[in-house]
Amino acid sequence: MDKMTLEPHYDDDCIFCKILKGDIPSYTVYEDNIVKAFLDISQGTPGHTLVIPKTHVKDIFAYDSDLAAAVFSRIPRIARAVQASDPAITGMNIVNNNGKVAYQSVFHSHFHLVPRYTDDDDFQMIFKDNSGNYTPDDYAAIQAKIKAHVED
Ligand code: 5GP
Ligand code: ZN
Repeated sequence: MDKMTLEPHYDDDCIFCKILKGDIPSYTVYEDNIVKAFLDISQGTPGHTLVIPKTHVKDIFAYDSDLAAAVFSRIPRIARAVQASDPAITGMNIVNNNGKVAYQSVFHSHFHLVPRYTDDDDFQMIFKDNSGNYTPDDYAAIQAKIKAHVED
């Protein structure tokens, strides 16, 4: 595993690093050497949980594949625990915001596990269908631009 990213590194100004260091309390539901999972203070829906790497990583763009593998591999187990905590949970949105424009407000990467109960349980995501505005050439041009930037 890559020592650069998996070795804990804290940012003194980061609220989630303060939680990792124990300077700020949290309702922790799971932790190991790689991740900590704790209740989001906002409780968007009951059981709303955050999973964070135990090292300061700003956003998804800063992960290397070792850290990604280590963090992502833990998410299904934590998601299952949240799901099992209440029989009323019928689904879950897993959300990862990157950048202010994408609603990131804490710049220590985290994954929201938002249990879903009903259609009107206080959580919404809107996926607009803009396909009517795209021709096959438009899709192909976007595809080519992204493909050209995939790193080895
Ligand atoms: P973001 O908007 O960056 O995707 O999500 C940040 C989340 O962190 C928000 O949902 C917010 O409620 C949560 N949060 C911010 N400060 C604290 C805190 O001190 N403790 C906990 N448990 N959650 C926090
Ligand atoms: Zn941090």
